[in-house]
Amino acid sequence: MKYNNYDIVIVGASNAGGMAAATAIQNSEKVLVIDKMKSAGYLYRDTIASLGSKAQKRAGVKINKTKLLNFLSAFAQDNVDQRLLRIWADHSAEPVDWIEDNILKPRGAYMSATNDAPYKTLINTAFPTGNEVTNKDGSYWEMEYGNWLLEKLQNLGVEFSWQTKLEHLIVKYGRVKGLIVRNEVSKETDVIYAKNVIICTGGYGANEALMQKWNPLGLKTNMYSDSQRDDGSGIIAAIEAGAVKDEQPASIVFNRGAVPVGTNAIDFYKINLTPPNDPGYLWLGSYPFLKVNLNGERFFNESAPYQFDMNSASKQPGYLEVTIWNEKMMSEAVLKQFHTLGCSRLSFPGIFTAEEAQEEVNRRIKDGLVQKADTIEELANKLQLPVGNLKRSITRYNKLANKKQDDDFGKEDYRLYPIESGPYYGAWLGGRLLATLDGLRVNTKMQVLNNLGNAIPGLYAAGNCSGGFFWGSYPDRVPGLTASHAMTFGMLAGRIAANDGKLPNSSHVPPKVHTVKVADDVEASTGASEQ
Ligand SMILES: Cc1cc2nc3c(=O)[nH]c(=O)nc-3n(C[C@H](O)[C@H](O)[C@H](O)COP(=O)(O)OP(=O)(O)OC[C@H]3O[C@@H](n4cnc5c(N)ncnc54)[C@H](O)[C@@H]3O)c2cc1C
Repeated sequence: MKYNNYDIVIVGASNAGGMAAATAIQNSEKVLVIDKMKSAGYLYRDTIASLGSKAQKRAGVKINKTKLLNFLSAFAQDNVDQRLLRIWADHSAEPVDWIEDNILKPRGAYMSATNDAPYKTLINTAFPTGNEVTNKDGSYWEMEYGNWLLEKLQNLGVEFSWQTKLEHLIVKYGRVKGLIVRNEVSKETDVIYAKNVIICTGGYGANEALMQKWNPLGLKTNMYSDSQRDDGSGIIAAIEAGAVKDEQPASIVFNRGAVPVGTNAIDFYKINLTPPNDPGYLWLGSYPFLKVNLNGERFFNESAPYQFDMNSASKQPGYLEVTIWNEKMMSEAVLKQFHTLGCSRLSFPGIFTAEEAQEEVNRRIKDGLVQKADTIEELANKLQLPVGNLKRSITRYNKLANKKQDDDFGKEDYRLYPIESGPYYGAWLGGRLLATLDGLRVNTKMQVLNNLGNAIPGLYAAGNCSGGFFWGSYPDRVPGLTASHAMTFGMLAGRIAANDGKLPNSSHVPPKVHTVKVADDVEASTGASEQ
């Protein structure tokens, strides 16, 4: 392909890149999006966080912004740039409203929000931030609205070059001037000149060498990577150009990675999960049932953010845990009683019904990943756990569950359920890495920083390739935060890059409510009101 010169080239066509293009094209003549894959529509996510979206206002959802920002910062032990958190909160409703107005509504679809965030304990503090992309008929999850969004961008004048991979950035006199790209089919390289480049290339979870370097514990505690395209190449290209990245890892991990009994976690890391080779997904892994270590002993409070399971298991032999439940617990009434949030929630706006969960368990029994037994002795043998220890753990757990008080680890009473009759079930579980979240350091204008903290002219980053926003484990009780972080900062990067590094006074987004100081030299308008 022969490339022209562009005002803005966006690398990556997913959540961050698409929203960057949506705002960039409002103020620029020539915007190009490149992506190394054939398509990215399927990557647009269904649960998107915000404060004060139209859907949330319709549903009467009220979130205290100050409380949420304090929570996010405390959750990360202040290992974040709090100005980035604030700018996210102030702008998070904009991409959600833009998608609803421009992409969903013309097709009869819409965003829905609920006030469902009932947790009372400190560790399970929750906020009803999620906006769910909802089909015309009130259902969700099958729809790939990302394809509609990409089509809309094309109609707005954005050019696309698929299967085109960023290899290196071109830097002259300290300014990024363009990119060297490779066509993934012909393998030919090409040069693209651009006034500004926005990197939206996601994380590095599919690159084992980078995982070993930047997140070695994650490589041990995760059994599967659900982001097989995330090779870290955008982060590396920016580092070559003088950028710096976060020094500590951050990631989003599900506790749903079922592995065969006897797995050695240290050398088990599966990346290529394209169906039908997608083993190991066990949705009930995210339910706070009894969980024991490989010695058959209970070792923690199972009721915490998903990723905490893997953090706790990392202090146990073998880096894995074993979840134990019985037939009764798979009924709708009992699963509802656990009241989980986000995508582990029973029924809409979660993913599964109780019947679908049971079907998945039956599939996993056939795969040999879930064990079923009539007695605890038989279950222990099938799970290769010491029989005496498992029996003692279950007996103790039942005692606590029956008196509705967890004297050992403090699990909430409504999440204690005794395992008193068979058939019994169990599965070895490790983490499923959805994405890495540590990335290039950026300022509040999404400009990529060098080791002196100065912006590299012409270079922006947004989404999971950018950092400063997360640290350690993902706060999953703030549903939809990663997609929202990617979309909100992508949108800001596109808008600011199109204005040569200045925040524009006006934009196409919903009316401003008030003005807030976001950095020493920058005034930003906010769409979200304090609630
Ligand atoms: C199964 C699953 C479900 C999820 N559900 C949710 C959810 O409901 N809500 C939520 O908040 N989060 C969810 N997440 C997490 C969310 O998907 C990510 O946080 C989000 O996709 C990040 O968006 P991004 O644009 O930064 O990066 P990505 O979505 O990873 O996209 C990066 C893009 O860049 C392209 N690319 C990479 N390198 C190059 C290169 N060198 N040259 C050209 N192109 C390149 C890739 O092909 C890709 O299209 C989910 C994750 C998974 C795996």
